[in-house]
Amino acid sequence: MKILVINSGSSSLKYQLFDMKKGERLAKGLIERIGCGGPKDHTEALKKVVADLGAPKDIDAIGHRVLHGAEIFKDSVLVTKSVLATLDKLVKFGTLHMPPNIGGIRACQKIFKGVPNVAVFDTAFHQTMPDCAAMYAIDPKYYKKMGIRKYGFHGTSHKFITAEAAKFLKKPLARVNLVTCHLGNGSSIAAVKNGACVDTSMGLTPLAGLVMGTRCGDIDVGAVLSIMEAEKKTPEEMDALLNKKSGLLALAGSSDCRDICAKAGKGDKQAELALEMLAYRTALYIGAYNTVIGGADAIVMTGGIGENSSEVRERIVKRLGALGIKLDRKANKIRGSLGVISTKDSKIPVVVIPTNEELAIAQDTARIVGR
Ligand code: ADP
Repeated sequence: MKILVINSGSSSLKYQLFDMKKGERLAKGLIERIGCGGPKDHTEALKKVVADLGAPKDIDAIGHRVLHGAEIFKDSVLVTKSVLATLDKLVKFGTLHMPPNIGGIRACQKIFKGVPNVAVFDTAFHQTMPDCAAMYAIDPKYYKKMGIRKYGFHGTSHKFITAEAAKFLKKPLARVNLVTCHLGNGSSIAAVKNGACVDTSMGLTPLAGLVMGTRCGDIDVGAVLSIMEAEKKTPEEMDALLNKKSGLLALAGSSDCRDICAKAGKGDKQAELALEMLAYRTALYIGAYNTVIGGADAIVMTGGIGENSSEVRERIVKRLGALGIKLDRKANKIRGSLGVISTKDSKIPVVVIPTNEELAIAQDTARIVGR
């Protein structure tokens, strides 16, 4: 069985082709500059994918990464006419990402006639959050009228590493308690109780929570209002400032954690502060979520930083002594592979598990089309 996975963004389209029987990735590619020098739209971009793949006739299903499923899609779903109509209504939850996500699905319907499409949502895994975690303490009319609440993102990754962690810990998925940390350019943490998400650090949008590459994460809304007022910024300008020009980039001049580590190593004070802020806030969430789930079986780290950066992992784990967690500095040298980085006598193991969002989308697609 062959599954094509599509991640369709505003100006680029990433794809991977999997052979599910063999559990192998057959191809991977990126089409760039859609609508700005490259293919004129997503249909043209997909024609390029078809050409790159040698006009395959044996694709069984296509899985699409979709940013937002709101409260409607609690799981991945087979795309039908009515699902597409519903997705169109959810554009308000992600005006930047949803149109190209949906555009990618429509383009596939045209190019791969008769092949089933499955939408896999970044928000779905977090739909099990209880109201006390998901609601904001504002007039409930904003939830009722506009759906303003916490949704969370990176769900595909949190779900994937939850399943992998359960296997690794030899615990049934329905009984595993974890704090899962996806630390990449965008970062989020989830509290997982009995295999299901009960809280997560991102919110209505991916802006909330941890210190990220270009996003500020948690901030007093009063500070946002003060800046808007003082500099007469529009909501769009403020959105760009907080999402694209904040985080590590604003603090220390680069959104790339490797650059920040290198700068800190040379004694750059701002880079040092940026790393400590990142580690501090991550540890803060780990402590809180460990309480929320009544004690974790493991802390799991993944994403570009979580999988690769010994330095950031060390800075985080050093702050978790109150939980009886101890770092094994030698084991912490691992990069991009599965392994325990805490000592044998650590009260809670810290496990690095590489994520694979594309494979997770392919697996979900296979499940939904029932093969
Ligand atoms: P995205 O959120 O875009 O998928 P990734 O998960 O690929 O991002 O993570 C990108 C981040 O991972 C960058 O900040 C990068 O610096 C960091 N990273 C990747 N490899 C290393 C490494 N060896 N050491 C430190 N940071 C790393």
